[in-house]
Amino acid sequence: MSTHANTKMLSEADGYDLLRRFNVPAPLFEITTSPEAAAAAAAKIGYPVVMKIVSPQIIHKSDAGGVIVGVKTDEEAKTAYNTIISSVKAYNPDAEIKGIIVEEMAKPGLELIIGGKIDPAFGRVITFGLGGTLVEFHKDVGIRILPCNDEEIHSLIKQIKGYKLISGYRGEAPKDEEFLFQTLKNACEFFEKNENVVEFDINPLRLYEKGGCAVDARVIVQDGPVELPPHYDPSKIVPIDYYKPRSVAVIGASDDKTKMGYAVFHNLLQFPGKVYPVNNKRSEIQGVKCYPTLSAIPGPVDMVAITVPAQLVPGIMEECGQKGVKMAVVITAGFKEMDEDGRALENRMVEIAKSYGIRIVGPNCLGLILPPYKLDTTYVSTSPLPGDLAFISQSGAIVNAVVGISLSEGSEMGYSEVVSVGNQSDLDFLDYMSYAQRDPHTKAIILYIEEIKNGVAFMEMAKEITKTKPIVAIKAGSSQRGQAAAASHTGSLSGAYEVYMEAFRKCGVTPVKTLPGAFKVAKILSDVTRAPKGRRAVVITNAGGFAVLSNDYAETWGIEIIDLPKELIDEMNTFLPPFWNKNNPIDLLGDADEARFRGVFDVLCRNPDLWDMAILVNFPNKVLSPEQVARVLIDYSKKTENLLVGTLVGGDCMKPGVSLLTQHNIPVFEELEFTYRTLGHLSWTADR
Ligand code: ADP
Ligand code: MG
Repeated sequence: MSTHANTKMLSEADGYDLLRRFNVPAPLFEITTSPEAAAAAAAKIGYPVVMKIVSPQIIHKSDAGGVIVGVKTDEEAKTAYNTIISSVKAYNPDAEIKGIIVEEMAKPGLELIIGGKIDPAFGRVITFGLGGTLVEFHKDVGIRILPCNDEEIHSLIKQIKGYKLISGYRGEAPKDEEFLFQTLKNACEFFEKNENVVEFDINPLRLYEKGGCAVDARVIVQDGPVELPPHYDPSKIVPIDYYKPRSVAVIGASDDKTKMGYAVFHNLLQFPGKVYPVNNKRSEIQGVKCYPTLSAIPGPVDMVAITVPAQLVPGIMEECGQKGVKMAVVITAGFKEMDEDGRALENRMVEIAKSYGIRIVGPNCLGLILPPYKLDTTYVSTSPLPGDLAFISQSGAIVNAVVGISLSEGSEMGYSEVVSVGNQSDLDFLDYMSYAQRDPHTKAIILYIEEIKNGVAFMEMAKEITKTKPIVAIKAGSSQRGQAAAASHTGSLSGAYEVYMEAFRKCGVTPVKTLPGAFKVAKILSDVTRAPKGRRAVVITNAGGFAVLSNDYAETWGIEIIDLPKELIDEMNTFLPPFWNKNNPIDLLGDADEARFRGVFDVLCRNPDLWDMAILVNFPNKVLSPEQVARVLIDYSKKTENLLVGTLVGGDCMKPGVSLLTQHNIPVFEELEFTYRTLGHLSWTADR
């Protein structure tokens, strides 16, 4: 996606005219080119007026001394005219001065900003928040990706911190939220219908108890229509049989354990179909007959894994075409990620593949693993176990680490698909997601994303997938430094992280921050009946300290610890000892036995509409074993569809309870902050 280089800023007057056509109110104005004309215009408009510089080079007029407000007489108007001209000349001697705009002075109101820009991946994005000259200071803005519906506009208004100033702060009368909603909607329409608008902002939009008014407009246009990212095109998606080869050849297979070609071929030995090593220096590799070239292989070859140096790859691709190969996993690095020569090499490889209809995984990747089919084209040291998670990663190293962790003791993690996407020269995130969508083994999808190029298509596809399978995503680059690092190698917009978060919200993807979080959240969400319906939590514990910490963590991660209704407290009073805290978190005290916990869960499960999740927090003690705690949760999880989670803090002695809960598919944590963080991520889905 690119924008024409030829952009220009419309004058404030032209901006007002354009916005007015979309029912965004703007002040009356006149452009003048002499002090006398300014005074005459001001008299006609009616004092007081505001006078501002009109110059294409002056983007922030106040900074240049180009704005004077509250002009009350003809004399003042003439003086203001001259003052503005001389300030602007001093500020920028080269600025071309087109005149002075004399405007009706809008009465004071709440100053807001409405802006729009084109995101290279996600297309038109609008921004809304607290505005005025302090906009950078407030940094209180929300965004929406267009097109967006009424509900999304309403929630955008409510999501900013400054919403209190709109709804009526400290006894002030509320502002006209309906007008604001209409104006935002109109601004969206203005942006979508004017295809040559690259960027705009209305700052400030003054909002009153009744109505409002734009008092500045900056609109940047280009010559032709803006080019937007493409929509999802299902015809581009790889047919599923491409992932089901009957035979796989490894180009560059090796007997030398230090070579990638060794590990790749070794991992493929478990594949139940045919596997062929290709290497012109050997007759046998790892005990299997070796062929000097791909064409020398007698039978058909459906898939190849390529580990030979980049310069050789276009030639090999040509050979693949002749041989009728359908899919090439290009593990080799040294393509566009390296330099211009590498880029040219990659383009050539892709062109050849295209001409034969070969689809490419990579290059510059770890490869593809489909554990249910025992297909592992990577050089990870041990293949992961089959299971129901698809893990799609833009980092090969993270794939390696995740596979390693999944095989470590006590982990019961298995995968349906593991892929490192590499340079995505052909197959990209969408293809691998589409595979996971269609694959019957996959229950949930985890993405590790640095950058998505085709964001619009991504959202369209993810929206479909998340109707049946949850998608959890780690988006790298949330920090200032991370964004700068990402920008320096991808050239992406700063602030893009927020656009990703908004895109995820829009299409039902759950963002998380860490790998353990990703696995926990994916696991819980893949049991759809348990996904929390909201943020309301009840905490039941025998540990006062954890009750206090629960409040802190819950607040940090946006979990709402509800006040218990009196009826529930009354009911609990009938069986709890008189000194229980009668509050949520429910502290059943250190001597709490199983019966106390069961009693509370019994009451909760009979009142499921009052809460969305119940968290049992327990520590090692003699009255109650971790297995007993686990049993309580297991029994009551059969009696409610709400989410029940356990947190057993205390290390190894709690393990029997932890593994019992794990076996019964009940989310369990061994660290309290992680509980709330995970629940916070989960509730993201509930809010939509
Ligand atoms: P800048 O280019 O510096 O953003 P603006 O046109 O936004 O210039 O003017 C600066 C400030 O002056 C505005 O934020 C607003 O508070 C005030 N202002 C500008 N135009 C008007 C107007 N027509 N009525 C009332 N106040 C105005
Ligand atoms: Mg302004």
